[in-house]
Amino acid sequence: SKELGQRQTVIFNSDLLKSANDSFEIEKDLEKALKNNELVFYLQSQIHPTNKTHFAESLIRWHHPTKGMISPMVFIGIAEKSDLIVQIDQWMLTQACHFIVQQTLLGKSVHISVNISGRHFTKPDFIEEIETLIAKTGVDAHKLTLEITESVLVTDLEDVIEKMRHLRRYGIRFSIDDFGTGYSSLAYLKKLPVHELKIDKLFINEIATNPDDFKLVRAIFEVAKTFDLSVVVEGVEDEHQLEVLNGLGKPIIQGFIYAKPIPANDWAQQLTVAQSV
Ligand code: C2E
Ligand code: CA
Ligand code: CA
Ligand code: CA
Repeated sequence: SKELGQRQTVIFNSDLLKSANDSFEIEKDLEKALKNNELVFYLQSQIHPTNKTHFAESLIRWHHPTKGMISPMVFIGIAEKSDLIVQIDQWMLTQACHFIVQQTLLGKSVHISVNISGRHFTKPDFIEEIETLIAKTGVDAHKLTLEITESVLVTDLEDVIEKMRHLRRYGIRFSIDDFGTGYSSLAYLKKLPVHELKIDKLFINEIATNPDDFKLVRAIFEVAKTFDLSVVVEGVEDEHQLEVLNGLGKPIIQGFIYAKPIPANDWAQQLTVAQSV
């Protein structure tokens, strides 16, 4: 009916208004959060089939003073609309470097992956920023992976390649996050100095039951093999998925089946000291 139609319109509009308001509020609060130390550095284990090093991805959390713990799903998208995301990434990068240095001093072998937003990576001074960070923190850059998404690759491929080549000389590794969910073509893979592909949870959810998803993931494994890249599989939650994946190769597993993201200090507690030979 007309009445119902109008009502839906009203609800729709007020919802929109509400979310626009929320997003403005979140943006304002996020600026404060950066100053007031409300951001929290979490780590989620990445289980390697052979390597003795402890691998993890750093994932941000926001401990809001009144709203409680806020997921990055809520605020990263908003932060990406401005240079706020650059400040957030830089904060996480700094945490990651300090963490690596600290653990190395304790005799623990760690390797941390950090998410780098497209807006951040494409900044003209990205190389200098990372060089400064390495110099300031004294981090061994071989213990650092930077995760970028395909959205970066459709900007200026030559610029991307130059930045990667440059930073690779320090030992930094590069990973393509959410591989296969973007718009880029496979052609860039032969040009890019990347080390790793990450498969999104979206492709893994039904891998044990949906033949299309299975074929898709199998194809990604083949691409990785062709270009000699590591594969990290995200969002593995049960044994069926694990079994299917291990049948395709021996990927690195990042999923709740092994570990959830936890505060970095807690993550560090579970590490063993590297065996001295
Ligand atoms: P992402 O980079 O794809 O990170 C993986 C996400 O999958 C994380 O969500 C992780 O908690 C979740 N995950 C991993 N295994 C499982 C599983 O088995 N089951 C389920 N249900 N989820 C699993 P999270 O921590 O909520 O982060 C969401 C997204 O926010 C990230 O997706 C990333 O795009 C962004 N993000 C997080 N931290 C940062 C950051 O420091 N900088 C930037 N630029 N983005 C970040
Ligand atoms: Ca990631
Ligand atoms: Ca992502
Ligand atoms: Ca993902």
